[in-house]
Amino acid sequence: MRHQSSGHCPACGGVHAAEACPTARGSRPAPPADLALIDNLVAANRILAHQQVVDGFGHVSVRHDKDRSRFLLSRSMAPALVTTEDILEFDFDGNAILPNGPAAYLERFIHAEIYRRRPDVNAIVHSHSPAVIPFTVTPVPLRALYHVSSFLGSGLPVFDIRDVAGDTDMLIRNSGLGAALATSLADKPAALMRGHGSVAVGSTLQLAVFYAIYLETNARMQAGALRLGPITYLTDKEAALSTETTNNQATRAWDLWKLQVSKSS
Ligand SMILES: [Zn+2]
Repeated sequence: MRHQSSGHCPACGGVHAAEACPTARGSRPAPPADLALIDNLVAANRILAHQQVVDGFGHVSVRHDKDRSRFLLSRSMAPALVTTEDILEFDFDGNAILPNGPAAYLERFIHAEIYRRRPDVNAIVHSHSPAVIPFTVTPVPLRALYHVSSFLGSGLPVFDIRDVAGDTDMLIRNSGLGAALATSLADKPAALMRGHGSVAVGSTLQLAVFYAIYLETNARMQAGALRLGPITYLTDKEAALSTETTNNQATRAWDLWKLQVSKSS
């Protein structure tokens, strides 16, 4: 995989090398992505549906392995139904690199703007997973309750679309809103979206899926524990130490989840 320059592009000012600039290059497709990467993206869609993180809505993307200024995302459809034929290539302006192609997700700008700003991110999950939503509309912070979700640390940013755009339909339907969400996410592994859902990011597809699933699991457990009494959360130090360990274990869970969806399809 090519590595990205940390400098700014002289053609468009984006954070990528000049030779990877989509503005300068136009909308030519990147060389074909690795088939294993596409297969894993299809599996990620099905895993997230199987784990009830996404339903008819929500999406997962991966950065293109041959061109870091592009990403791969399904056409607009329910994630459980995605096949390799449904995967499209996009640039950082949210344009599909396929003229007159099928309809794209309205919220593809979430992915575009996070990839544009986070060279460390190679995969993104956006979901409306139900246990997380209450933590987006109340003052109770979602915090790491146990070691597997230690990446949450002592809390995540909560993006409120109203702060940047007033009353809207709540969707991240353009680059400006995507940029505002990406700014709120900053360098964190996930962000909550008020009255909407969440976004989880990772250096690999496996890690982004892992984070999205355990974001939901932690939320469910935290809501239950709050009914029992005060919670003893992981300290920041415990969370940091545990995240280091857990990140190296994410593929173990991925292998199981992938097997489960391959059996059910
Ligand atoms: Zn959404």
